[in-house]
Amino acid sequence: MPKILYIEDDASSRRLVQKVLEEAGHEVVLASSGLSGIETAQRERPALILMDINMPDLSGDMVATRLRTTPGLEKTPVVALTALSDFRERALVAGCVGYISKPIDIDALAAQVREYLNGRREAVDDEDIGQYAAEYTQSLVRRLEIKVRELEEANRELRRMDKIKNDFIALTSHELRTPFTLVCGYVDLLQDAFDPVKDPETIFMVEGLGSAADRLGKVIDEILDLARVASGQVALSLEPVRLLGLIEEAAENVREASQSRQVAITVMGSDWPEMLANPTDLKMALGNVMGNAVKYTPDGGNVTVSSARYDSFVEVIITDTGIGIDPDEHGAIFEGFYTAGDTDLHTTSKTAFKGGGLGLGLAIAKSVVDAHNGRIWVESPGRDETTCPGSTFHMLLPINPSAVGSD
Ligand code: ADP
Repeated sequence: MPKILYIEDDASSRRLVQKVLEEAGHEVVLASSGLSGIETAQRERPALILMDINMPDLSGDMVATRLRTTPGLEKTPVVALTALSDFRERALVAGCVGYISKPIDIDALAAQVREYLNGRREAVDDEDIGQYAAEYTQSLVRRLEIKVRELEEANRELRRMDKIKNDFIALTSHELRTPFTLVCGYVDLLQDAFDPVKDPETIFMVEGLGSAADRLGKVIDEILDLARVASGQVALSLEPVRLLGLIEEAAENVREASQSRQVAITVMGSDWPEMLANPTDLKMALGNVMGNAVKYTPDGGNVTVSSARYDSFVEVIITDTGIGIDPDEHGAIFEGFYTAGDTDLHTTSKTAFKGGGLGLGLAIAKSVVDAHNGRIWVESPGRDETTCPGSTFHMLLPINPSAVGSD
């Protein structure tokens, strides 16, 4: 017996119709909204679709119109279920082949469905068709307008929440900075107050305190950096810089981590231009990407930095032999507070293999590159900690950021 899809938001109607049609021998698939109905129809390819007209997301007539242009479903009969006689012609204009009145007559339903399966088609009088089509179009436009307004409102609210979040993060970090500076001061005082020979245990504890404080300080700095960079202050201080010099300094900053884990950093190529950039921030962005390359590469691996020159751009290419990144995370890793993989497995050291982080390094790098009117992206076949397919980060930077309009 032919398969029937029933799209209906009311659960008790769904159960009732399902029971009646199954008793008549049909296979029945169900969907509880217009949108999920379209997906189910595409997946299940039913012989006939029964559809409630009055649904909260997409109304039945809109779903019918959509199905009429869905490949493979253009000819599938869609029958509207409606209590309102006004909607009947509109349903036909929208693409339904007919309608069944609500409340459903249980004794007649199976026979009605059979008729439509056998080719029954209702028609609207030719004279009236224009009027119904116009009404339908107007209802679509009204609905579209309401949705656009709702989306705009939701968007405004999201932006407001995002600002509250950013302000909160920035403010909290500022507030943390002050007591943190005090902690560091006292750690220094304690270190001077004890004799390492006479009191090695105390010195050991103070050093532990000191390195924990250092790590905390780096986290606070990272958050403040992101807040500063994201607020658009980078572009204000462009100056001529030697790109190779910045890369070498950034490499120097991750040297300790790379050497302790025998990860070699090689800078290749000779075409490194002079360019206009904010040196502090660009070095930070390069350092973050290079630091990650080291961090996510197992001991003994390689990180290579090379360049490609185009007319008014230079591309910095940072390749590693690390664990790689799944393609569906290639966009998300540049968002703030996103860390791929299992955060439970993060170690507490930021420089150790896969060492923990807040997921801010790449967000900062992206904000800096954006502020230079450049682009940053990653290529990697996927994440595999056994075969280590590696990742390649690209930073495309204009030689003169102010000559390139941001879009
Ligand atoms: P984190 O502080 O967690 O390293 P980042 O913003 O620097 O944050 O990076 C976001 C996520 O992207 C990381 O958690 C990591 O999973 C992934 N990632 C970044 N760089 C690499 C890389 N070179 N190889 C593999 N994964 C990487």
